[in-house]
Amino acid sequence: MTAAEQPAAAPGTARRAEIAAALAAVRERITRAVAGSGRAPGDVTLVVVTKDVPAGDIAVVASLGELDVGESREQQLRAKHGELAGLGLRWHFIGRLQRNKATAVARHVTTVHSVDDERLLAPLARGALEVGRELGCLIQVNLDGAPGRGGVAAGEVAGLAAAVATTPGLALRGVMAVAPIGADPGTAFARLAELSRRLHGDHPGATWISAGMSGDLEAAVENGATHLRIGTAILGSRPPAR
Ligand SMILES: *Cc1c(COP(=O)(O)O)cnc(C)c1O
Repeated sequence: MTAAEQPAAAPGTARRAEIAAALAAVRERITRAVAGSGRAPGDVTLVVVTKDVPAGDIAVVASLGELDVGESREQQLRAKHGELAGLGLRWHFIGRLQRNKATAVARHVTTVHSVDDERLLAPLARGALEVGRELGCLIQVNLDGAPGRGGVAAGEVAGLAAAVATTPGLALRGVMAVAPIGADPGTAFARLAELSRRLHGDHPGATWISAGMSGDLEAAVENGATHLRIGTAILGSRPPAR
């Protein structure tokens, strides 16, 4: 059993205070970045990345008013989703998606940020239809073409987006990317913004840009990100000892 699979023990006061302080600091960074780029505060949604974090910490995050949470493994998602039912959390899936797990993921989340293969669409749609809910889909783009990482090449976005848009049960929301390691995140996110503009021309409802993590959220906001995926800066880099 990993820490994430333990029952949701309530974190102690010190841990609660630690999460609250870190969240406040991240909110302050976001507020400053949004103001600095002349955008409206409501344009940017924080998705708190809770992978490898115990369910009790997620309950703290929810109590502090953050209800959008992101997981990257199907097994953790399912366990925590079950433990935390009733908190009104909106679950996002941000990790590499395997075809044999896609239906299970779709049953538990509002949005999948990491759609990068047309063969995922049928199993995702099956899960969405089973629970009677439209599943939001973002096309993950591999911005530097490095092999072995998630995402489609820029030239494949339009085709995959069209396939999502015509699959019953799925709703095309936009694009997602992780800044390539060692690259300037501003340059990378500017490319993503350009891909978003092109996609938006064909699909006016596809307005989301999921970009920006703990280390590069300012560059993402500057380049039009609508959804930030922040983990470490809020919850630390490993499950807390209790
Ligand atoms: C882990 C993860 C994040 C969060 O990264 P931090 O640096 O911890 O903020 C964001 N996006 C994806 C795809 C991730 O896997």
